[in-house]
Amino acid sequence: PSPPIEGDFYHLGHMLTEEERALQLKVRAFMETEIHPIINKYWLKAEFPFEIIEKLAALNICGVTYKGYGCPGLSNVMEGILTMEMARVDASITTFFGVQSGLAMGSIYLLGSEEQKQEWLPGMQQMKTIGAFGLTEPEVGSGAAGGLTTTAKRTGDSWILNGQKKWIGNATFADVTIIWARDIDDGNVKGFLVRKGTPGFTTEKIADKMALRVVQNAIITLTNCAVEEKDRLQNANSFKDTSNVLRMTRAGVAWEAVGCARGAYESALKYTKERKQFGKPIASFQLIQNHLVEMLSNLTAMQTMVYRLSQLQDEGKLTDEHASLAKVFCTLRTRDIVSKAREVMGGNGILLEYDVARFVADAEAIYSYEGTKEINSLIVGRAITGFSAFV
Ligand code: FAD
Repeated sequence: PSPPIEGDFYHLGHMLTEEERALQLKVRAFMETEIHPIINKYWLKAEFPFEIIEKLAALNICGVTYKGYGCPGLSNVMEGILTMEMARVDASITTFFGVQSGLAMGSIYLLGSEEQKQEWLPGMQQMKTIGAFGLTEPEVGSGAAGGLTTTAKRTGDSWILNGQKKWIGNATFADVTIIWARDIDDGNVKGFLVRKGTPGFTTEKIADKMALRVVQNAIITLTNCAVEEKDRLQNANSFKDTSNVLRMTRAGVAWEAVGCARGAYESALKYTKERKQFGKPIASFQLIQNHLVEMLSNLTAMQTMVYRLSQLQDEGKLTDEHASLAKVFCTLRTRDIVSKAREVMGGNGILLEYDVARFVADAEAIYSYEGTKEINSLIVGRAITGFSAFV
């Protein structure tokens, strides 16, 4: 069966193979039957539905593009399609999955030694081992490249970590958190696999978020936290290496924004066909149609953009500026689409039970994380002008 085309106006889904389409529909069915019925309840309570981890793992999509270690080895286009399908129903579950499969596993896959990959990736692929990625600090966000203050000091066969991290998704319960810290001796940023329960590693959940409330974000405090040299990511030698992970995951966030926008658009379209005012469906009014067409235009532009982005990634030609441009454009347009979706739903647009209110809130977090609009614009600006305007 073909996927419904409401939000796929240019039939991009038809460019997939039969096998790929079947997987797309499998993930869609999972999101609609397992996640959709429970998500608003968890969103409101700001709690994570741990019972879904096993079911999500059973889809066997974690570590989507990686080869070996039990990972599916799919294309980057397919990873994007699956990310969109998840976010079409809920961005928090997509973020949880993105931290696990992209940021945490990706760091090990790209920057770990063979031994480290063997140790961690199979369990993480099965989601029996959960990961987190700790880069941002309370006082250092956009300026992480040169500004990290968390320190690492080598003493014999160990490293002593000191500092704080903020916003770290999954960290309250993760089995392993990748901590990025500056080597006091050579000044370079290095990555450390910090195991759950390591003395000197504590987490505190960030309360009262107004977006992605299901994601458990934490402040991490590292106090003389000792990590063995064997748990230092062996091929992470400077922030440039960290950036290789971020380039890959930024492309994923662009797809996540597309999914969020698509979910809001499809909900709004359905609603306007069913809701009647003045004796007619509101979808029959010219001004409502204008809103819907504006939403669809942007959504279609976003989808074609990320599809090509992932093709470039599959061809090994993805640059930082390619990923940044898509991240900026898609998260910006998503903000616009979700707000129009909320608008055409009138008062019901602010009720959680109609889903769009959750998309409106969640779009704000997607807009800011993995590089804000300004930072990603500056990355593109530097590439096209040759001038760096960061400072
Ligand atoms: P700041 O860097 O303080 O920026 C504030 C404003 O100043 C922004 O508008 C920014 O664009 C602007 N600005 C900064 N510098 C410049 C400049 N040179 N020129 C122009 N404008 C500038 N981090 C992790 O490490 N791991 C995670 O799992 C993680 N998950 C997250 C989940 C959520 C829900 C959120 C909200 C954040 C998460 N983050 C995570 C952190 C995220 O990556 C940062 O929030 C983001 O990089 C922005 O940093 P900041 O919030 O400190 O903002």
